[in-house]
Amino acid sequence: MDRRHFLTQMAQAAAASAVAGTVVGAFVEENKAKQLTLRPPGALDEKEFIKTCIRCGQCVEACKNRENKVIVDGKEIDTLKLAAPGDNAPIGTPFFIARTGPCFMCDDIPCMYACPTGALTPEKCKNDKGEVTIDSAKMGVAVIDPSSCIAFWGLQCTACYRACPEIDKAITIEWKQNKRTGKHAYRIPVVHEEYCTGCGMCEMACVTEKAAIKIFPREVFLGKAGDRYVKGWDIKDQQRVKNASTKTTTKTGRSKLNPVQNLNQGVQWDQ
Ligand code: SF4
Ligand code: SF4
Ligand code: SF4
Repeated sequence: MDRRHFLTQMAQAAAASAVAGTVVGAFVEENKAKQLTLRPPGALDEKEFIKTCIRCGQCVEACKNRENKVIVDGKEIDTLKLAAPGDNAPIGTPFFIARTGPCFMCDDIPCMYACPTGALTPEKCKNDKGEVTIDSAKMGVAVIDPSSCIAFWGLQCTACYRACPEIDKAITIEWKQNKRTGKHAYRIPVVHEEYCTGCGMCEMACVTEKAAIKIFPREVFLGKAGDRYVKGWDIKDQQRVKNASTKTTTKTGRSKLNPVQNLNQGVQWDQ
């Protein structure tokens, strides 16, 4: 083999290996747990879900054959899909896009009961009494962007509120005086996460060009106050805190301050 031929072959091999690397890299990337993917009702937490789902598609099939079909402009709205390359979700796993195909909250939850592995499990759809109900599903949580929600501008809307299957629980309307005009009222939608199932019907119904209310996976959006704070007005909360750890787990610059220093930061005292 002459030198030029040898160098050409080396360059071709390097290029092929780079392409293979990119393809494998993309495949691995596509199959990592994705933080923003919305899963069907009853899904395990995302990392466990990825390990447990065998990508069989039975939930998607059950969803397609559900009883409460929804037809818009003569076209049936699909909810669950199996992720394909480019869907930005681990390939072959079920997901939904709230804006175009929300979960219609079937009472019999056929997708969940079709799952053969427990990746979708009734355990994740139980209420306080231990009953399995779609109202207890936690697929995500609705979040409102006040800068683009026209109700915050003073315009009458309530489309999300009226679309919500958990109306007056998951989403309520709060009246506020419009101080600019002095005569009108704002009717502001407010989401209550404890009742929100993350079904996405509000996002589909939103009238703005890009939805002003969106569904996010709960672990992405919700914070956690920790066990050490008590809602003084809630007797159950006081009982809960009896067993709470007294250890401080959050360490920040502020943790080093004692409460008096903390409360009075920036205050100039007369000597
Ligand atoms: S509960 Fe939602 S995801 Fe499951 S079958 Fe019904 S519409 Fe589809
Ligand atoms: S039925 Fe269960 S295992 Fe099969 S694709 Fe759906 S979630 Fe995964
Ligand atoms: S996602 Fe929207 S429509 Fe569904 S329960 Fe929550 S607030 Fe209601």
